[in-house]
Amino acid sequence: MTSLTVEPGPVHLLRIPTGDDLLGSLEEFVTANNITAAWISYLGAVQSASLRYYDQVAKEYCDFHIHQHLEVVSGTGNVSLLDGAPFIHTHAVLADSAGKAFGGHVNYGCEAWVIEARIEEYTGTAPMRTFDETTGLSIWEID
Ligand code: ZN
Repeated sequence: MTSLTVEPGPVHLLRIPTGDDLLGSLEEFVTANNITAAWISYLGAVQSASLRYYDQVAKEYCDFHIHQHLEVVSGTGNVSLLDGAPFIHTHAVLADSAGKAFGGHVNYGCEAWVIEARIEEYTGTAPMRTFDETTGLSIWEID
């Protein structure tokens, strides 16, 4: 295990309105505010969802869509640097009217009903993503 110590910075509270894309909205905010290191959490509801599952053997994402209204039970994510630009990595657990849950890596195409989000910014050195042969993913390179 490796670690990087960061200091707390400003905390931003966001409301993502009906019809807006969840990931796109978060990206727009971090880019506009030049946020390079942060932790994200959110809740609310979406009108439809677009998630991904990473196949650890094939080392590729499998995309799936859920075309129904869902509660966002829990969304979490982070901001770090990929190729010198802010990059958001976020996962969410979503539930249907029976409380049955779906979850995965959040992709573009999660259409907000309404989302309340918290972005906790960090100061200091931002974690950087580099390609990792073992996983086939760009993950944090922390010494
Ligand atoms: Zn992921």
